[in-house]
Amino acid sequence: MSNSTALFNRAQQVIPGGVNSPVRAFKGVGGTPVFIQKAAGAYITDTDGKQYIDYVGSWGPMVLGHNHPAIIDAVLQAVPNGLSFGAPTEGEITLAELVCKLIPSIELVRMVSSGTEATMSAIRLARGYTQRDKIIKFEGCYHGHSDSLLVKAGSGALTLGQPSGPGVPADFAKHTLTCTYNDLDSVKRVFEQYPDEIACLIVEPVAGNMNCIPPKAGFLQGLRDLCTQYGTVFIIDEVMTGFRVALGGAQSYYGVTPDLTCLGKIIGGGMPVGAFGGKREIMEYIAPTGPVYQAGTLSGNPIAMAAGLACLTELSKAGNEEKLAAQTKKLATGLKALADKHSVPLCVQYVGGMFGLFFTEQQEVNNFQQVMQCDAAKFNKFFHLMLEQGVYLAPSAFEAGFMSLAHSDKDIDRTLDAADKAFAALAK
Ligand code: PMP
Repeated sequence: MSNSTALFNRAQQVIPGGVNSPVRAFKGVGGTPVFIQKAAGAYITDTDGKQYIDYVGSWGPMVLGHNHPAIIDAVLQAVPNGLSFGAPTEGEITLAELVCKLIPSIELVRMVSSGTEATMSAIRLARGYTQRDKIIKFEGCYHGHSDSLLVKAGSGALTLGQPSGPGVPADFAKHTLTCTYNDLDSVKRVFEQYPDEIACLIVEPVAGNMNCIPPKAGFLQGLRDLCTQYGTVFIIDEVMTGFRVALGGAQSYYGVTPDLTCLGKIIGGGMPVGAFGGKREIMEYIAPTGPVYQAGTLSGNPIAMAAGLACLTELSKAGNEEKLAAQTKKLATGLKALADKHSVPLCVQYVGGMFGLFFTEQQEVNNFQQVMQCDAAKFNKFFHLMLEQGVYLAPSAFEAGFMSLAHSDKDIDRTLDAADKAFAALAK
């Protein structure tokens, strides 16, 4: 029995499903999750000593690669001063200043400890600020696991949302209206039906939780314009895309200005950090300046701030943004060429440092319904063929892949060699 299998068996005795976040359980792709011992640069090593080229990067934060010396040094320097004070520190200001500089639509920013907290708090703020209850989200977009956001579409865009599972009251879910990604008309119809009731619209500017779906030209600006027209707070959830699609986030890449932005992952460099920020006038509505309550014992934690600051400082260095995008392109175009060579139908989509593989004849995948038409079983086979050869992809057909600055040309070539064999096996 492998060490991972033994650990998974042991974990299931005391942890629900053996994992602390569901997608880690390999439920979608099947098999036993590999338990990780350590990581460095582009590689993770499991408890059986097998090394993998890692395209998950802790689901996004490890944009510099694992164990980057700048982050480790910053953490080690911060630790002797104390792990948490529950009182303000200079590190919080320095990180906030850098975030506001990199993403100019953010005038004020509040630190939290996860992406879920960031989106949940931004939505509460938008509801408090507008004194409206309803929100709009998109089918297939994930914004963390708070009640308002664990909602699936009704039978059509104009029906009220339903809980996507037990535990979310129907009375709560009905305030969440779900539209179709990349379909502005579906959004217009909802605004026309509820012109004075929509507090905010939240969107992933590149959808990364139904694989990788870039916005069509004009989609994000169309959302911006509709929000302005109806007095709705426009929230861009950059938890995944922030500092990855571009240093200034997807909002700078696509040239669109939200009212509020949610951040997570890279902002903490691997430590638990999230943030939400935006227009001063809206942000001042939050406690202690305003009436909307939001708080956190470990918010702005000094070790996490040090890690985040080191990560963003390093990432901001000249050439890094371009390098991340170039490596992603090299991998994405290489995979597409190999799939074509073996006549395996594959659509590859990528932006900045994120990418997605769709096993489908479709030339483009633009929304959740089209994602559902892809061959998830084929992805699962591909995943295991790559895993066997030492390439760790996201263990789900519905998650984006993440490039890091530590991935060398050699790593990408090795990945493509493995993919060549995997596609050959799939073509049989
Ligand atoms: N928003 C987006 C776009 C995400 O991708 C995620 C997590 N993958 C979240 C919010 C929630 O973040 P967290 O897991 O840190 O709570």
